[in-house]
Amino acid sequence: MCTTCGCGGDHSHMHSHTDEKGNVTIHATDGHHEHEHTHADGTTHSHAHSHEHGEGHDHPHTHKISVEQDILSRNNAIAAHNREMFAAKKILALNFVSSPGSGKTELLSATIRRADPKKLPITVIEGDQETSNDADRIRSAGARSIQVNTGKGCHLDAAMVHEALHHLDPAPGSACLIENVGNLVCPAEFDLGEAHKVVVISVTEGEDKPLKYPDMFRAADLMIINKVDLLPYVNFNIDKCEEYARRVNPKIRAIRVSATKGDGMDQWLKWLEAELILASI
Ligand code: MG
Repeated sequence: MCTTCGCGGDHSHMHSHTDEKGNVTIHATDGHHEHEHTHADGTTHSHAHSHEHGEGHDHPHTHKISVEQDILSRNNAIAAHNREMFAAKKILALNFVSSPGSGKTELLSATIRRADPKKLPITVIEGDQETSNDADRIRSAGARSIQVNTGKGCHLDAAMVHEALHHLDPAPGSACLIENVGNLVCPAEFDLGEAHKVVVISVTEGEDKPLKYPDMFRAADLMIINKVDLLPYVNFNIDKCEEYARRVNPKIRAIRVSATKGDGMDQWLKWLEAELILASI
């Protein structure tokens, strides 16, 4: 799980910052601090300890597995709370996951530009380690957006989304699109309360990514293959990619798009509108 990759996994400390234009950025820190101990024999050493896990004298590695279970079960509880809120307000929440550079932000921007705001109102929660560049891009495409900076964290967790929802307050009956941190590993394990994970892969990547990162393709209900306009210039077998995805997840759907050139965008918007109707009943 996520602590094995060094991200800590537990982002219980958050603060928000509002810029002069009123745009909010949420900064998450993992609540781990260097903590110095002096033992009875006079040796001094320091290690990270978490306020959430209290004791401070426990070395993190000795309780690693129980801490991981603790983090995931706490995350699942907050995700369930988010999901109840989405259901009560008939909001469609989607969790977009991918490697960095697959074109998630461009896909969301193109989606916002094409969507009829009466039929398909959209707000966006943007997750990145640093910067509010992507939230700015979403705003210039015409939707409200909150940036979450995860710092060292490699994924969004349910508490960050919960905090973002308080600021964003998406309208009843809208679509809340959550762009996760670009990473095909850790976000697979963290439920945010979404209706579906949508995995985005671009044709500039390897077609065998579904086989290399099966957890993510298993967790997703839809795979969007982006940048299909580049197919003539790259060595990417798109049919094989879909076949590999179905091998790890027979139920996964696939839509081929070019967010920049428009191919497949009608099919993608149809899927989105149909899901929004499902969320409203
Ligand atoms: Mg992005």
